[in-house]
Amino acid sequence: MSLFVIGDLHIHFGSSLKATEQLKGKVWKNHEEIFRKNCEKMIRVRKRIIIVSLGFVDMIMVNPVIIQKSQPYDTEEGCLSLQGVRKTKRFRKIKVRYHDESFKDQTQEFEGYVAQIIQHECDHLEGIII
Ligand SMILES: [Zn+2]
Repeated sequence: MSLFVIGDLHIHFGSSLKATEQLKGKVWKNHEEIFRKNCEKMIRVRKRIIIVSLGFVDMIMVNPVIIQKSQPYDTEEGCLSLQGVRKTKRFRKIKVRYHDESFKDQTQEFEGYVAQIIQHECDHLEGIII
């Protein structure tokens, strides 16, 4: 599971609170307990999952590994875990090995924007934020 998802749990919970005092009280402590248990589960299971929306379908990739990269370029990206954009290096064409939602082995080539999204999300699986 990615750090992106872990961060979002915090952001989602934080934005649902009505008053900042709740952050100091029991509600936050309970949340921390639930959050810690979820993190332990994620770590114990050791699944690495990303979901890439292709518009017409959401593609689920379990344990994705980028096995080939070509045509590097410099770009800027935003991230739901950050404000603003950061410079980064990506590859226009990639080949990814992963398991699909039925846990069947897949190897597929991607290019352009979809390839960029997959690289961004695979970085998150390694704990990298742009
Ligand atoms: Zn991101």
